[in-house]
Amino acid sequence: MKLVIKNGMLVNPAKKEKKKTAIVIENGIITDITDKPDESGAQVINADGMIVAPGFIDIHVHFRDPGYEHKEDIHSGLKAAAAGGFTSVCTMPNTNPVADNIETIRYMLERAASGNGVKLYPVAAASKGLKGEGLSPIGELKEGGAVAVSDDGKPIKNTDLLKRVMEYGSSFDMKYISHSEDTYLAEGGQMNEGFYSTVYGMTGIPVVGEASQIARDCMMAEYLDLPVHIAHVSAEMSVDIIKHFKKKGVKVTAETAPHYLILTDQAVGGFDTNTKINPPLRSEKDRLAVIEAVKNGLIDAIATDHAPHHQREKEVEFNNAPFGIIGLETALPMILKLYHEGHLTIERVVELFTAGYSIMGLTGGVIEKGAPADITIFDTDYQWTVDKNMFQSKSSNTPFHGFHVKGAVFATVVDGKVVYSREF
Ligand SMILES: [Zn+2]
Repeated sequence: MKLVIKNGMLVNPAKKEKKKTAIVIENGIITDITDKPDESGAQVINADGMIVAPGFIDIHVHFRDPGYEHKEDIHSGLKAAAAGGFTSVCTMPNTNPVADNIETIRYMLERAASGNGVKLYPVAAASKGLKGEGLSPIGELKEGGAVAVSDDGKPIKNTDLLKRVMEYGSSFDMKYISHSEDTYLAEGGQMNEGFYSTVYGMTGIPVVGEASQIARDCMMAEYLDLPVHIAHVSAEMSVDIIKHFKKKGVKVTAETAPHYLILTDQAVGGFDTNTKINPPLRSEKDRLAVIEAVKNGLIDAIATDHAPHHQREKEVEFNNAPFGIIGLETALPMILKLYHEGHLTIERVVELFTAGYSIMGLTGGVIEKGAPADITIFDTDYQWTVDKNMFQSKSSNTPFHGFHVKGAVFATVVDGKVVYSREF
């Protein structure tokens, strides 16, 4: 089993490398990085004009399996990941049953093992049943293969429980991922509270509910001297809080999703339920602040918060539609839009898609001899139109249908095996 990827531009931020070279892979391992590859007996990928990067990781996806396989299942989710250039994903625990027990974690890993090869790392529930009352058996969940804990979809309202989750979690190296939301302020909310919620006559979700909970969780991280990861940052106020704590040396990392960088609350005006997400699309001022944070490193990583819902569930009145959109298969071109607009360098783009490894304590994110051959090959300029009917995902709830985009995944390689490729 030999694979050679040649003529591509290697962009390898962890090694501060950007150069035209070839990569030789044998039995799933990178064995050589050279200008003169030995191609004998090898499958050859000609990556001329392409970027060759360490395999991307999405640390925030919902694969709905077990329990809601009509929206997505682990196999379809892994296919969507591969099509998006992701070689690893971290799945959130709001399945049915909830991923708060070792059997469910093991089931997920078993399903993933019979998938396309993309690596799945389960995030377990922080509280039993995501109820925010009692701790889940974090040690046992770690043993079963979970990599972090979160009640994602819900905040932990009880601050004493939050403290215990972080303390107990840290003794097993299980980082807490914060879904930062004040549910009292968000009650009944459909979209961002602001000018457009008034214009559209909808109940708003104010940014202060997100920012205040980020502040609380960062304060707990500071107090305990333990790490915390902030999920889906959407607002300027949130970025300001993260800046404050990062400056003090608190171990806080943060992610945002492509839609917060591309769309604003104005988009809700068409009452397309595929613009209904939580946190909601914010104002233009927020969007620009989040772009700045992605640029300057206050936000460490891009995660999609891929949240599939069946068409029937979304084809209802806005107020009755569930929150969430899919994102795996459109993430790269959306972030490349910021590259084309001059906000991000190509190195930063790759960094944003690979920073998740260190955030989650996983190996990966670097191309070097001896490393597993997880590689994403993409073109920055290929133009195409997003078509919701062409996704590998079982669901089609994207706000980007019909968008003309620039940049596409050419091939996704996991452990030396091509798990996705696209004809240009
Ligand atoms: Zn969340």
